[in-house]
Amino acid sequence: MDFSENEDTGALRDLLRRFIEREVPPELAARWDREDNFPREMIKRLAELGVCGLTVPEEFGGMGRDVFGMITTIVELARCSSALAGIYIQNACYGSLNIAESGTDEQKQRLLPGLAAGDIIFAYGLSEPDVGADLASVKTRAERRGDKVIINGYKRWCSGAGIADYIYMLVRSGEADARYKNLSLVLVPTNAKGVTIQALGTMGSRGIPTNDVILEDVEVPFANVIGGEERWNRGWSLLVGPTLEAEKLETPALALGIAEAAVAEAWEYSQQRKQFGGRICAIQSIRHMLADVQTKLASCRLMLSHATWKVHTGQPSAVETSMAKLFVADTTREIVLTCQQIMGAYGYAHGFAMERYVRDILVMPIWGGSSAIQKNNIANLMRLPRE
Ligand SMILES: Cc1cc2nc3c(=O)[nH]c(=O)nc-3n(C[C@H](O)[C@H](O)[C@H](O)COP(=O)(O)OP(=O)(O)OC[C@H]3O[C@@H](n4cnc5c(N)ncnc54)[C@H](O)[C@@H]3O)c2cc1C
Repeated sequence: MDFSENEDTGALRDLLRRFIEREVPPELAARWDREDNFPREMIKRLAELGVCGLTVPEEFGGMGRDVFGMITTIVELARCSSALAGIYIQNACYGSLNIAESGTDEQKQRLLPGLAAGDIIFAYGLSEPDVGADLASVKTRAERRGDKVIINGYKRWCSGAGIADYIYMLVRSGEADARYKNLSLVLVPTNAKGVTIQALGTMGSRGIPTNDVILEDVEVPFANVIGGEERWNRGWSLLVGPTLEAEKLETPALALGIAEAAVAEAWEYSQQRKQFGGRICAIQSIRHMLADVQTKLASCRLMLSHATWKVHTGQPSAVETSMAKLFVADTTREIVLTCQQIMGAYGYAHGFAMERYVRDILVMPIWGGSSAIQKNNIANLMRLPRE
């Protein structure tokens, strides 16, 4: 067993750290959060580093599927800003991973070179006002008319739709009582006639706002049905296909990056802050809290690395990815709240990044398959009898 980091991962991490040091000072990350706004051009800057090509096959302008590289990139970007990591996920994961896995040849040729170059961003349109964990009950309707698809409905929590080119949308394309059958995935251009995007406010995960998307008689070419003719009414199989395992790791990677930043801040703060005539890092309860968060951070890294290795090497990984999502999302929330406690009032105040880390970390067990849903998955996948 070899736990050492390979040279490529180390070099990628150094490249990203130098980029962030040069181009994204802490004040900028704080401003994106405060203004709930983010410059789309940042994805071009990331593409220049080559990271947008990590999920694109070489024949379409990328570097081949590198799940380790993708996860390392998300962690490093999230240490600086969840918005920066978010726009990368919109491009490299929502976009390239899905099109490379499920697109027709025509869709791959049309979209993958632009995705690798950072010219295209996707948003995910799965959830609806009445549809959360039970995605098979989506109500947004898609009707086929010749070589067109007409879409009517309402999507909710569509993060980044305001800066995206396409929404990767789950739609009901046949009778509703068929549940998992009669669902399709369609690429809806955000500038199509009949699409209205309205920002929703959230306490965290700001910079790339999440949105309601209203669809009124939106006409999309049938060529935008993911997987084409073969996958019309068979979209569910794409949603739960091999890409899902890589996608389940996006949230733990994001959460790990935020938690690493929080621990670094609390560690440093404890050495600056003096009370009762000495630095608070000398107080035993503070030392224990810091030892605790470092230990939990190390366990999160191991969980994520192991699941990433399984996905990267193409091994069955549904249990490990669900465990990583569950454990890292829940544990990083504990880590960040402990770090806030270490900083006392300053962990609660504007002006320090800690309060942003707290707001950002709280959503990790909620989205991307909640902790309860991952527990269901793990028990089911490990064949625990239901009676
Ligand atoms: C900031 C933010 C950004 C988001 N971005 C996107 C996005 O870009 N695209 C998108 O499609 N969605 C997005 N979402 C939606 C997110 O994925 C959903 O919140 C998630 O799917 C859960 O749905 P829900 O919150 O409606 O909870 P519900 O499904 O209504 O669940 C409510 C509670 O019941 C529990 N629960 C539900 N069913 C079960 C069950 N069978 N067993 C055990 N417990 C259960 C849940 O764990 C939860 O605690 C975003 C959400 C947020 C907050």
